[in-house]
Amino acid sequence: MKPRGEIRYIDFHTHSQGGGSDAIAVRNLMAGDEVPGDFPANTLFSAGIHPWQLTGDNTEELQTELLLTAAHPHVVMIGEAGFDRLRGAQGEVQYRVFLFQAHIAAEMGKPMVIHCVKGWDELRRALREVKPGRPWVIHGFRGSGRLAASLAGEGFWFSLGAKGLTTEVLQSVHHEKLLLETDESGQSIAEVYRLFEAATGYDGQKAESLIRNNFRLLMNYSL
Ligand SMILES: [Zn+2]
Repeated sequence: MKPRGEIRYIDFHTHSQGGGSDAIAVRNLMAGDEVPGDFPANTLFSAGIHPWQLTGDNTEELQTELLLTAAHPHVVMIGEAGFDRLRGAQGEVQYRVFLFQAHIAAEMGKPMVIHCVKGWDELRRALREVKPGRPWVIHGFRGSGRLAASLAGEGFWFSLGAKGLTTEVLQSVHHEKLLLETDESGQSIAEVYRLFEAATGYDGQKAESLIRNNFRLLMNYSL
């Protein structure tokens, strides 16, 4: 994708229509959703099987649908995919479906967007098993600084939204492996950047160039 206009913001993970002349938005599709025929400029997509979608007997159907969607040229990442101990099918099904997606991502050379609620052991196990060539980005992280530091040490990237932008977490992760997102908050990505600036002390220009560079590295893009 060649971005149109001068890009200031990257919304790494959103469920609403984003994009526009000054922002790139990565809109999430769940397996079964199709890439819309028409979407705003500077929109990219991620597509994945969310653990909440799994009932235990719909695995094959969702996997087939995901393969179709993932082949679309605007789908640049696989996910959100991952582990949720509080919702969705039982752990073993989640693990199997996650590995399926991790292998697709590896074959296609795409990064992954990770959804993880309390399933950190499974996520680490999967990372050791798959040894991905492209980054896995934990989105919507809201854990402790200690957890963030240990995951960062294992090579995970992070995408933070308004609620995840705590001093504790920001002191524990690599700022060169960091992205920002609105997810389902309904906030604008510009507001999330303002919160990031307030929490780090970066000025607007520094914050924008940092996140833009991170995204470019992640995607192998020139922006
Ligand atoms: Zn989401």
